[in-house]
Amino acid sequence: MNFRPELSWEFLSLDQIEARTLRALRNHVKYLKESSAYYKNALWDVSADDIKSIGDFERLKFTTTQTVADNLPKFIAADRTQIVETVTTNGSSGNPLIFPLTANDLDRLAFNEALSFHGAGICNEDAAQIMISFDRHCFASMAYYRGLALLGCNTMRTGVLALDEQRFYIDQLKPSVVVAVPSFLKKLALDLQKKQIDPAISSIRKIICTGESLRDCEMELNAIGKSIQELWGAEVYSSYSSTEASVSYCECEACQGGHAHPELVYTEIVDERGNVLPDGKAGELVVTPLGVEGLPLLRYRTGDITFKITSPCSCGRNSLRIGPILGRACQLIKYRGGTVYPLIITNALDAIEEINDYILVIESDNSSSDQVAIHIATTPASVEKIANHLREVAGVNFPILVSNVPTIQSMRGSSREKTRILDWRKKSGTAEVLQ
Ligand SMILES: [Zn+2]
Repeated sequence: MNFRPELSWEFLSLDQIEARTLRALRNHVKYLKESSAYYKNALWDVSADDIKSIGDFERLKFTTTQTVADNLPKFIAADRTQIVETVTTNGSSGNPLIFPLTANDLDRLAFNEALSFHGAGICNEDAAQIMISFDRHCFASMAYYRGLALLGCNTMRTGVLALDEQRFYIDQLKPSVVVAVPSFLKKLALDLQKKQIDPAISSIRKIICTGESLRDCEMELNAIGKSIQELWGAEVYSSYSSTEASVSYCECEACQGGHAHPELVYTEIVDERGNVLPDGKAGELVVTPLGVEGLPLLRYRTGDITFKITSPCSCGRNSLRIGPILGRACQLIKYRGGTVYPLIITNALDAIEEINDYILVIESDNSSSDQVAIHIATTPASVEKIANHLREVAGVNFPILVSNVPTIQSMRGSSREKTRILDWRKKSGTAEVLQ
């Protein structure tokens, strides 16, 4: 298989993309009704030919993780002999969900990732080191590897080795590109500095980050994004992927959102009731992966919160982009008639210099409003500035309690140094701990 970026729809006009998307969605519905026992039943009253507009498609039923977990065999559309790789993803019950792929699905994934890396300015002259897990049937690392290989990069899969071992392979391979989780790269850079080695003089020039957001709602680098860029002296790009979506959204060199590849996925952002939201409005990411044979899905609710940007990008691509992941749908805070996601609050707090440490505590009093308090290690004189910033950036007026670093650390418990959010709304009596 050769990489042919000219096959991508990204540089077509918006009208051309929409026309092709509509045809692709119709074909997708046809395939689902013919090949998936689940959708044959769920779409019994829908004919692909009835889908005459994008609006018609956006009235079809959603698919949830729970539905897939409960009916997995019925979702598998490919014959057993066609399955050539099995990965797993988190099921809603805590059990991993088995996810089968055909040979064409693997080629599709490689094309998707090659397009993403190509958009970030990576080419066959680059050497790449992948520092994320290859264990536990991990989908993302396999997809990144296939994409880089299709691009013709010299790719080394170091996985999640210890810091010293990663450093050894950086010295040996001299990668120009790394794929890694931001907090790990920060740890690695600080470890190098401790050993009197400046990470900024390494061979690494581009960093593809996965697993954690790099930017705030204004698409500016957040605290971890800035520190990685400064420590490594490299360009940083955010990449979001999910096994169910079978696609990734990666930033191009303009770094103004992760580009969807419209020939591979139809992307929507919806509110709690399932209404499609306009540009810039935060809601749940809903994906319809196109061209998947093994486990095809329709309007799949990912549970991840972001927003969409449909205006053309300065890179020349006209494909839809998504912003940073702002949290999970289940983390939505309801407060005095308004709603906000916790990561919008933490991104806002991370940008304030006067804050030495903080923790956001969320509780439920069984009313329509959650109880929220932010414990902040700061001076009383800084409280007004912090409150104003939160109102401006996040539109909330949460109570701010002046505290100190040891008290906040004790609220986390000994093993959770980085916890910034304690969510006590779960019914189990234990807090969901978010980094
Ligand atoms: Zn772009």
